[in-house]
Amino acid sequence: MLDAAIAANVCPDQHTIANTVKSCARIYALATGRSVQAYAVKLGFMADQFVLNSLIHMYASCGDIMAAKVLFNAVEEKGVVTWNAMIAGYFKNGDWKEVVDMFKGMLEVQAPFDEVTLVSVATACGKIGDSKLGERIGVYAEEKGMVRNRNLATALVDMNAKCGELDKARRLFDRMHSRDVVAWSAMISGYTQADRCREALAIFNEMQATEVNPNDITMVSVLSACAVLGALETGKWVHSYIRRKALSLTVVLGTALVDFYAKCGCIEDAVKAFESMPVRNSWTWTALIKGMASNGRGREALELFSSMRKANIEPTDVTFIGVLLACSHSCLVEEGRRHFDSMTQDYGIHPRIEHYGCMVDLLGRAGLIDEVHQFIRNMPIVPNAVVWRALLSACTVHKNVEIGEEALKQITPLDPNHSGNYILLSNTYASVGQWKDAAMIRKEMNERGIKKIPGCSLIELDGTIFEFFAEDSDHPQSREIYEKVDEMIENIKMAGYVPNTADARLDVDESEKQVSVSHHSEKLAIAFGLMKSRPGATIRLSKNLRVCVDCHSATKLISKVYNREIVVRDRNRFHHFKDGLCSCNDYW
Ligand SMILES: [Zn+2]
Ligand SMILES: [Zn+2]
Repeated sequence: MLDAAIAANVCPDQHTIANTVKSCARIYALATGRSVQAYAVKLGFMADQFVLNSLIHMYASCGDIMAAKVLFNAVEEKGVVTWNAMIAGYFKNGDWKEVVDMFKGMLEVQAPFDEVTLVSVATACGKIGDSKLGERIGVYAEEKGMVRNRNLATALVDMNAKCGELDKARRLFDRMHSRDVVAWSAMISGYTQADRCREALAIFNEMQATEVNPNDITMVSVLSACAVLGALETGKWVHSYIRRKALSLTVVLGTALVDFYAKCGCIEDAVKAFESMPVRNSWTWTALIKGMASNGRGREALELFSSMRKANIEPTDVTFIGVLLACSHSCLVEEGRRHFDSMTQDYGIHPRIEHYGCMVDLLGRAGLIDEVHQFIRNMPIVPNAVVWRALLSACTVHKNVEIGEEALKQITPLDPNHSGNYILLSNTYASVGQWKDAAMIRKEMNERGIKKIPGCSLIELDGTIFEFFAEDSDHPQSREIYEKVDEMIENIKMAGYVPNTADARLDVDESEKQVSVSHHSEKLAIAFGLMKSRPGATIRLSKNLRVCVDCHSATKLISKVYNREIVVRDRNRFHHFKDGLCSCNDYW
């Protein structure tokens, strides 16, 4: 347009110049924009508000923040358009702190601002976690009735969710008349990040009933909530949605999908998702390696690691956690030692406490108790409770009372209220027949007022998550569930089940102990699964603690007697029960 005007020998006015600059901004034509500026200088238009604002906007949009800033400083009377142009420039560049600082400067000089300004600033507050300023903006917007503006309301929901103020975010969200995908995603990812995964899925269910389609951010958050809860059906819905809409599997989304399947114990599906990704990065490889490892497929995890190196993908420290987990869960001692050394020597990655924890676990499982003890003493960083607990649990399995006692002594000051430590040592005493000591340690635990963490199992049926606690009677079908448990116990007794009450309370007699272990949360969840799923269907549950010895041997027999595959994810790993056996080879 400008060229045409010049060619026709018509002198362009301020508006023509400003409009031309705006067009340059839209198509990111920085060079043309610069020559228009030179032209404006020649014509003496540089004092014009419209021309100046459009130039600031053009430079800011094209990423030349310095040039925008020079012009911005030259403007004497800065109107709201001028300020917004500059803020938008920082915003576009991801300079969140600059956005916030600029707004603070605006408040000092009492500069004018509007809803557009507040949308950018509120979003920036969320990004850098400035909840104080975010809160002020929220209160102001509320007072002025600005929250009726959808963009601003969305930005405030997002800001509150990112700052962890989920209940505030929810109140605003619930009051919105129309919500776009950004608002829904903000709530979902807020809940997921705050580890409130059930609420994340509940709100996602509400979203599915609307016309709004999920985007990448929504799906990644939903998948990670599903991974935490073991919500296979909901996660599969997301996967089928991606396929139905032929959405591209970006690295982030694909990695979330791999991680989700692996964490639900569906390792074949994780592999398929991995293979269908057009591009993978080291996080993708790491997710699958860790998934293989915790599903007891150590050798395959290590093969994957060597394919990763062949594909020239650099491993990270997290990759090595996966590799060491693979070695420890599959008892590959020599490989473990080799990878642990190679991590520093070949990749310059210094082991963190988690890596040491994996090594202690690996050597401990192999029964090399003295070596582990020595290894912990020689660690260059101070061992934490997790490291000592790994040694203690090795002592329980390998019946080493002396070092077990030492380990508990070390843990107690680090983690005084963890009931699991006392139970492990008590079980160690019991394993060598020192019943008095076993009882003593339980008594000590009671005297110190340390309560057992209640066992909790989650099971998903038809897309709904059900939660069971030990001795739970909250479920409306509680009576039927307990009847099913009794039937299960009778049936497996005929197949050779002998209750193991080592983990039961000690202050009751043997028959009560047997009843109490039969009401562990996973047994209730399995009974419910048997009642509610079609014959032959796989039962999947996740448990907050380690599976106890009794539940482990009972579940093996249930898988055989009822001809069901049962997949249990406990705090550390997966157990795939099938035909009376478990994938962990009774080593967990
Ligand atoms: Zn149990
Ligand atoms: Zn197992």
